[in-house]
Amino acid sequence: MTPNVLFAAGAKQWATYEAPLRRALDRSGVAAHLATELPPEEVDYIVYAPGSAVQDFTPFTRARAVLNLWAGVEKIVGNPTLHLPLARMVDHGLTQGMMEWVTGHVLRHHLGMDAHILHQDGVWRPDVPPLAGDRRVSVLGLGALGSACAQMLATLGFPVTGWSRRPKHISGLRCLSGEGGLRQTLAEADILVLLLPLTPETENLLDAARLALLPRGAVIVNPGRGPLIDDDALLAALDAGHLGHATLDVFRSEPLPREHPFWAHPGVTVTPHIASETRPDTAAQVIAENIRRGEAGEPFLHLVDPKAGY
Ligand code: NAP
Repeated sequence: MTPNVLFAAGAKQWATYEAPLRRALDRSGVAAHLATELPPEEVDYIVYAPGSAVQDFTPFTRARAVLNLWAGVEKIVGNPTLHLPLARMVDHGLTQGMMEWVTGHVLRHHLGMDAHILHQDGVWRPDVPPLAGDRRVSVLGLGALGSACAQMLATLGFPVTGWSRRPKHISGLRCLSGEGGLRQTLAEADILVLLLPLTPETENLLDAARLALLPRGAVIVNPGRGPLIDDDALLAALDAGHLGHATLDVFRSEPLPREHPFWAHPGVTVTPHIASETRPDTAAQVIAENIRRGEAGEPFLHLVDPKAGY
């Protein structure tokens, strides 16, 4: 029977994703019926994004999976009506974009680019930056995005330490876990990159006490989620000169309110949640592959663990 796929990710995403999804389904050999409106009891798969009109999954009695278009699932994983498998997005294009963004911002701080870009004032400043081997980078979160970024930075020559919930071995990286591992990871971070998901365990992970563990002058680059950092503690650490800079792509409230002190703080760079995004052509292939798997009775890719929250 032809599976029914409900696209429940909003009209704007439909305009972007309809053609790539139809192409990807064709290529994967799945003759699916893809639509933005279907009777809930006839839906087999739900393509989803936070902010969707679908908030109650109870009427989707025969659905087999919810396929999230985005990597982060914090806005859906706790939905009490969701008892279906939930797959998140792991997309080659998303990963590539994040590697480029993280590498660019790490290199900005490593090379001290601001000194020359922001001060074209006639003063000759012949300070040669150190080599990457002399700049320690730590990455919190070694999942699809964190591990790719960490490996890219290690390839450039940075000594990279990564931290994850479960112990890991990743070529070219020093991998740590647990509270002791976190303390060590922070203590040795000249530049700290955050690529953790937002869960009850990671919220406010970087509080005043943990920020104090960073070496004086350390720089934070956060494309993970805003609530990973205690905003007030971050501002206090910057004001005290303990931190050198924070480049923030994600915030507790987005768009970041105009009156938020981050906008005016000289030690903060705000970017508007653009570090990376799901790319329609590659992401559509991931969705189509999961539908193919569902139809073939094979395990879904990239399933979320509801207990862990990511
Ligand atoms: P992922 O593959 O699920 O990886 C998450 C990583 O975080 C894993 O290494 C996991 O450890 C670790 N982790 C989770 N909870 C932890 C805890 N309590 N303590 C220590 N480590 C913990 O996620 P991803 O695809 O790499 O994405 C990471 C996040 O990036 C997303 O959740 C989203 O918030 C953010 N993101 C941002 C943008 C943007 O444009 N700014 C775009 C996409 C995604 P284990 O390996 O042990 O499981």
